[in-house]
Amino acid sequence: MKDPKRYLITSALPYANGPLHLGHIAGAYLPADIYVRYLKLKGKDVVYICGSDEHGVPITLRARKEGVTPQDVVDKYHGMIKSAFDEFGIAFDIYHRTSDPVHHHTASEFFKTMHNKDEFIEKEEEQFFDEQEQQFLADRYIVGTCPKCGFEEAYGDQCEKCGTSLSPKELINPKSKLSGNVPILKTTKHWYLDLERYQGEWLEKWIDSHKSDWKSNVYGQCKSWLKAGLQPRAVTRDLDWGVPVPVKDADGKVLYVWFDAPIGYISATKAWAKEKGKNWKDYWQSEDSRLIHFIGKDNIVFHCLIFPSMLKAHGDYILPYNVPANEFLNLEGDKLSTSRNWAVWIHEYLQDFPDKQDVLRYTICANSPEQKDNDFTWKDFQTRNNSELVAIFGNFVNRTLVLTHKYYDGKVPERGDLNDFDKKTLDEIIVIKGNLEKSIENFRFREAVKIAMDLARLGNKFLADTEPWKLIKTDEDRVKTIMNISIQITAALSIIMEPFLPFTTEKLRSLLNIEKLDWELAGKYDLILAGHSINKASLLFDKIEDEEIEKQVQKLLDSKKANEMENHKAEPAKDNCTYDEFMKMDIRVGTILEAEQVPKTDKLLKLKIDTGIDQRTVVSGIAVDHKPEDIIGKQVSVLVNLEPRKIRGIESQGMILMAKDASGKLNFVIPDVKTNDGSGIK
Ligand SMILES: [Zn+2]
Repeated sequence: MKDPKRYLITSALPYANGPLHLGHIAGAYLPADIYVRYLKLKGKDVVYICGSDEHGVPITLRARKEGVTPQDVVDKYHGMIKSAFDEFGIAFDIYHRTSDPVHHHTASEFFKTMHNKDEFIEKEEEQFFDEQEQQFLADRYIVGTCPKCGFEEAYGDQCEKCGTSLSPKELINPKSKLSGNVPILKTTKHWYLDLERYQGEWLEKWIDSHKSDWKSNVYGQCKSWLKAGLQPRAVTRDLDWGVPVPVKDADGKVLYVWFDAPIGYISATKAWAKEKGKNWKDYWQSEDSRLIHFIGKDNIVFHCLIFPSMLKAHGDYILPYNVPANEFLNLEGDKLSTSRNWAVWIHEYLQDFPDKQDVLRYTICANSPEQKDNDFTWKDFQTRNNSELVAIFGNFVNRTLVLTHKYYDGKVPERGDLNDFDKKTLDEIIVIKGNLEKSIENFRFREAVKIAMDLARLGNKFLADTEPWKLIKTDEDRVKTIMNISIQITAALSIIMEPFLPFTTEKLRSLLNIEKLDWELAGKYDLILAGHSINKASLLFDKIEDEEIEKQVQKLLDSKKANEMENHKAEPAKDNCTYDEFMKMDIRVGTILEAEQVPKTDKLLKLKIDTGIDQRTVVSGIAVDHKPEDIIGKQVSVLVNLEPRKIRGIESQGMILMAKDASGKLNFVIPDVKTNDGSGIK
């Protein structure tokens, strides 16, 4: 296909309701950033658009919970997200926000145009209404019992326990989240996008036309939505936070966040164009522009079916050329979860590893979940750093710079005649560059970063095969040629690696004492001329030690545990028992005298206990949490008149009382000061 005149690249607008984590970066931002950096190195006309999505119910709910305004919430997270992107090197041309007046105006006009063209269906419907708060209840404002699994805190749109999509009316015992009252049903009017009609008229045909050029995971998901049949979808809702519906009889109604958010790409482009003296319409309304959306798989339906329907219905806009959505990145074998705090937060990563943006960029890209979900582990992060970035890329560059200083005082030596091996090596750069272009242009970034690393491998192999440190004693002229070639490979690396590792290539350019070079120059024999002075070598990457990795893994486990403790709900009380029934139990203070693991078991300890009455054996299932040597001498509570029973061939004469916490850990129930063995517990 012919190259377009311009590229319009978007990454999904992050929701301004919390910080960024690893999964966000892997899904929609890093691949787009690599793609955009590549296009810019090639000298293309490209604008890269993003911004915060600042409307919607989770934001109003959070504001209410924290006793602040929705604007306070979005200001806080917009700032936090924007600076995390900046520091991580995601180089948007603009990072805008949907609470900006430019956006309100743009979204409003978009709705009005569609309304004037009669694209919407108007429908009156009964919806839940909170009489005390005098407010219609958006789906997340209603909780009730899930009809599928019985979970009592299911939302009006989804049960978070079993994952079922719901509508508010399906909930059993619905309650308003605002007042806690039972809501009434009241009639309200809304505008709907007629997706069913678009499917029949053109949408399905358009999706089919992308069967071979869109990623199979993206095309497949679109087809399954279409197969189920698209339904009209409400564009408006009753809420007081968002873009007001700009027609008569729409008081207290705003545009649904899924409708206004993607229009955010357009308003951000407008704001950027104004600043740069460009015409935003060239990018959005001209057939020689190419629109590409980078997103995660949860956004496929919006970017492949719904937003294109809006653009087409409006009439003035181009449709996306491609939507290379990624699947999900998991963390240490478990799904990333904000609510369970199972995540690597980017702002925390940047604090812990302030100069290692590229190590994370490299690891995420090498594990990019392009066709299926993939896993990030800290161990892999360490290996990628130590065995690839340090040992291959860093090592080659360092040897080249150090030797150039050692032999030639930092001046690039003159090259003599090239032998076949030299030519083959230099020509291999062109092959690598070509393969890399193919991978990036087809959105295969995992493959691309591996190919880029092959250039560093090529350099390492060249030095290992030619051994200039040995030759220097016998053939000085040959060493000049070898070092000159090594310098050319290093310069090519500063170009080839730029899309993936922008911080490192910046450092590399300053070591080489060169400006940023165009993509097309990679593979040229004389990127750096003889006589050019390079700067003193310093390491591009440092080794990451085991302790740093263990610290990160422990941090994850700690936060997961803290989260479990916080969300722990006590079990409901058991049926009553009588006083006499309780008094039948003889519970005493005792001391552990001996403790040993029961052979061939993980959980059982054999304990010898002084109960004050006697010394007896008790088998207890506490070995997972307590080591025998740690508990000898400890006072415990023992039920002494439990009928003896045989466990693994050992007669157990009683039971130790333990408290089980939310993480499942068993803690001893003991008197708060030392108490005589045999004292009764009542
Ligand atoms: Zn459920």
